Amino acid sequence: MILATASGKGGTGKTTVACNLAVALESPVVFADCDVEEPNAHLFLKPHWDGTESVTVDVPEMDTARCTLCGACQEICQFKAIAVLPETLLVFQELCHSCGGCALVCPEKAVSWKAREVGLLRVGHRGPIRFVDGTLKIGEAMPPPLIRRVRRKAAETLGASITILDAPPGTSCPVVTSLWESDYVLLVTEPTPFGLNDLELAVGAVKKMGLPCGIVINRCDIGDARAREFAWRENIPILLEIPFDRQVAEHLAKGDVLVEVLPRWKEMMQELHRNVLQAVEALQGKVSGKACADSEIRSGVSS
Ligand code: SF4
Ligand code: SF4
Repeated sequence: MILATASGKGGTGKTTVACNLAVALESPVVFADCDVEEPNAHLFLKPHWDGTESVTVDVPEMDTARCTLCGACQEICQFKAIAVLPETLLVFQELCHSCGGCALVCPEKAVSWKAREVGLLRVGHRGPIRFVDGTLKIGEAMPPPLIRRVRRKAAETLGASITILDAPPGTSCPVVTSLWESDYVLLVTEPTPFGLNDLELAVGAVKKMGLPCGIVINRCDIGDARAREFAWRENIPILLEIPFDRQVAEHLAKGDVLVEVLPRWKEMMQELHRNVLQAVEALQGKVSGKACADSEIRSGVSS
């Protein structure tokens, strides 16, 4: 099962929930930190590092001896990564999405490819947890290729029945890349007007992607009831409510794993895991129930 944690905004406790859930399971887990612009799960899980890999993307390189400056590559490039000038041609590598269009249309076969490093991928472990994260190079504008690489590495890591993907905050391309084809999304929010606004955006994105989701309300005893009311209106289960606790802030500031220092956190994370499994089973029941009903209708029609 691929379980993703997401939140419309930063600072809701998403990574805290993801890391503590991984440790509380006490069984083989693959943990992938997809927030490649600001990876921080390693600060809590403190994995033993097993290796790093350079992550590259292919960008075009034009053979100036062959190029006739016809402009076909500039015309097809939807990302404004090529500028054909009267006497030369420029490729803005940072804008290139490696789509291959320019090579396809070049009548002179003047396009070849070279690798451009966009970041680093790290793999490690902590007890039964296999850990993967990525760090985007400073100045890089496009996290998705590195996030896809982190996800592929997580998928290649065998031996665990659950993969936890910690998505970046927000609702833009990096989040969509992180959540893509997850089995279930845990949306971590807080019951404040800002939290509600960003939760609404996150739910909108997740629904558009057709992914099932549940909500964790962190610091549930501050703020107001609007996040709960929104969940009820949208028919999204609230899987866990976590009360505010000053000790949590103190332990997080020290980089502690909460389930190891606060026994109630272990109970809460295990409860969350049970609730996620129940929610997934309920969804599977609905899907198979609908499939049965559909096949009954079809057989009724044909008989
Ligand atoms: S590979 Fe695609 S995005 Fe990159 S320069 Fe060529 S056409 Fe543009
Ligand atoms: S399509 Fe080929 S020949 Fe035409 S400008 Fe681009 S690289 Fe040069």
